[in-house]
Amino acid sequence: MMFQTLRRIGFVDQPQLEKFKKIILMMRAVVLNEVKNDRRKESLRETSGEHSYSFHIADQGSDCNEHEKAYLLASMGGDILEDLDEALDRINDGSYAHCVKCGKEIGLKRLEAIPYARLCIACKSSEEKKAV
Ligand SMILES: [Zn+2]
Repeated sequence: MMFQTLRRIGFVDQPQLEKFKKIILMMRAVVLNEVKNDRRKESLRETSGEHSYSFHIADQGSDCNEHEKAYLLASMGGDILEDLDEALDRINDGSYAHCVKCGKEIGLKRLEAIPYARLCIACKSSEEKKAV
């Protein structure tokens, strides 16, 4: 499917596609950076013992909103990274913005909220019901 050229995908036109791609790449960078930071903090905690606790708190205090947002992303762990990579693949192969399960279009509103959404709302909610 890689031989398909990038083109309008359903209701998502080229500029929108580029916008979503940019957002996904940005989220990916944030997650990767945050994972790196967490590893760094953990190794600091291990090597410097009790003092690292106060370091950790002080670090959290700086630009809280940005950090919280990034932390929220990172706390979703490897899953979100996979989702982001898959979304980029789907932009490239032309299946982006379509539910991977039923093939229906994923609404623009949903994509704006979750640019890496794989499922339409109907499939997502039925999957969640199954998971519970
Ligand atoms: Zn669906």
